[in-house]
Amino acid sequence: MCSAPWPSSLSRSTSRGPGGPGPRAVPASIRTAGPLGAAAGAVTGVAMGLGPRWPPPTSPISRHAGPHPCDVSAPPYLEHGPRRTRRVALTFDDGPSERTPAILAVLRRFRAKATFFVVGDRVSGREELLRGILRAGHEIGNHSYSHVRLTGDLGAVASDLGEAKAQILAATGYTPCLFRSPWGYLTPVVLRGARSLGMTTVHWDVGSGDWLSPPIGAAAIRSRVLSRVRGGSIVLLHDAGNRPQTVAALPRILEALRSRGHRPVTASRLLGLRIAGGGERDRRAG
Ligand SMILES: [Zn+2]
Repeated sequence: MCSAPWPSSLSRSTSRGPGGPGPRAVPASIRTAGPLGAAAGAVTGVAMGLGPRWPPPTSPISRHAGPHPCDVSAPPYLEHGPRRTRRVALTFDDGPSERTPAILAVLRRFRAKATFFVVGDRVSGREELLRGILRAGHEIGNHSYSHVRLTGDLGAVASDLGEAKAQILAATGYTPCLFRSPWGYLTPVVLRGARSLGMTTVHWDVGSGDWLSPPIGAAAIRSRVLSRVRGGSIVLLHDAGNRPQTVAALPRILEALRSRGHRPVTASRLLGLRIAGGGERDRRAG
C-alpha cells in the first residue's frame, strides 16, 4: 500500500465552487487551481461535444453490473501520489475517440503507461479501442456515463457511474476501480457514489490546459505540464477527437519527462493501490 500523504482537504467544506448552491467538499487544491480548476474543466465537456443526458438511462446491463473487485481500503479521494518518487501519472479524459490510437502509438514509442478515464456513452462501437488500451498495459477509469455535472442524489449518481462501469465491463471484462468526476465536479454525494462502486476518485494536480477554448496549442500545453509536474504528479490531458493538439504535445512532454528521470505509470501504480492495473480483468475479452 502507498504511504502517500493523502489529502485531508476533503474534511474542509465550502459552499463555493461551480455548479450552483449546496453543500460540497471541495479540496483546497481545486479551489486554488485557477484556470486549471473545476470551472475551466467545465469548458472541456462542452468543447468535446459531450451532451448532457440526465437523469442517466437505466438499462438491464447496468442493473446487472455485478459486484466490484476494487480495494475498498483504498483512500476515497486522491489528487497526487507520494512526492518522494520519480513516478508520474498521465491521465486522458473523455475518450475513447478517434484520437485514441494516436495517443497509444506515442505512449508505446516512449514505453510509457497511462490511465484513460472513459465516458460510458462513448464506448459503444469503440470496444476494440478499449481492449487495445488494456492490451498495451494501460489502465481504464470511469469518467461517468453521461458526462454531466453529477448534481443528483446518491441513487442517480450511482446509477450513472454504474452504467459507465457496465459499458466498460461488457466491452472488456475489466472493472474500473478509479473514477474521475466530469468537470472535476466534487461533492460528498459524488464521492459516495463512486465509493458505492468501490472506486477511488482521482483528481489531478497538474492541468495541461488542453481543454481551453480557443485551443492554446501544443507548445503551451507542453509548457504548462512541464513547468508544474513533479514526482507523484497526476497530469490531466484529454483524449478528444476534436483536439489534435494534445497528441502533438505528447512526444515532447514524454521526452522531457524521460530526461528528468520521471517515469509515467498508471494511476493505480503511482498511488500504490493494491489493485495494480486499476481493476480486475475477470472476463477480459479480446
Ligand atoms: Zn471530461
